[in-house]
Amino acid sequence: MHEILAPGLYIVATPIGNLGDLSPRAADILARADLIAAEDTRVTAKLLRHIGTERPMIPYHDHNADRVRPRLVARLGSEAIALVSDAGTPMISDPGFKLVRDARAAGANIVTLPGPCAAVAALTLAGLPTDRFLFLGFLPNKEKARADAIAEVAAIRASLIFYESGPRLGAALAALASGLGDREGAVAREISKRFEECVTGTLSALADRYATETPKGEIVVVVGPPGEAARPQVEDLDALLREALDRLPIAKAAKEVAAATGLDRHDLYTRALELRA
Ligand code: SAM
Repeated sequence: MHEILAPGLYIVATPIGNLGDLSPRAADILARADLIAAEDTRVTAKLLRHIGTERPMIPYHDHNADRVRPRLVARLGSEAIALVSDAGTPMISDPGFKLVRDARAAGANIVTLPGPCAAVAALTLAGLPTDRFLFLGFLPNKEKARADAIAEVAAIRASLIFYESGPRLGAALAALASGLGDREGAVAREISKRFEECVTGTLSALADRYATETPKGEIVVVVGPPGEAARPQVEDLDALLREALDRLPIAKAAKEVAAATGLDRHDLYTRALELRA
């Protein structure tokens, strides 16, 4: 007989491909949970079969979460409920954060069981700086929204991590090359699975390669931080601002230079005020 689990919410990371990556602790909690809230119960049923157990499950996904969440929270005081997504760490481009928020507000016991996450696994493969990184999930599909999302992070001095799919990869890499400059990047595919690979190179080289090749499987793109050369020197920046100030009011000039350089609009506004004075 298994010992009874303390009531509460157990956030359980599951494998992103290789079932051997399920931790013994995760398997133990899944086997003992009173209920498993699963993104897709068919996917989780396979995982449970792998560990030789069957547990009651309830679907918890983007389409039913608002309806199901209050019922789950109400049960957390007396039952151990495990939250899993189809693969990897719940809440990382997957549902769950509102459940944790509401469970916390209700004073429930909350425990996390850390484990696989494609974003972090890709970062470890890429050979790009790891001291600062920003996870951005999936880029928007539409060209303009995607370019805007990329422009928004262009000045951030950190490695950037995106989730992608094969059919979108070529266009996404081309948009990243044009919005971020020709930085180093990596395309990590099928991590922990049979055909795992990590292709590295400049964004333009990667964009060329994947312009015609549509890779199969699951993909993470990692982009290195901007190099020093990508940062305009102060004198160049002042020249850009002065030129814009000749034509435009201060706020508009700052906005234009921010768009051109990826630098912070408020910092540029302050500098433009100084130049005007
Ligand atoms: N919660 C998951 C995690 O912790 O990584 C991510 C879920 S998100 C809906 C699924 C995306 O993660 C895929 O489209 C792909 O971009 C990435 N991904 C998941 N498994 C992967 C793998 N084995 N190799 C590469 N990318 C993977």
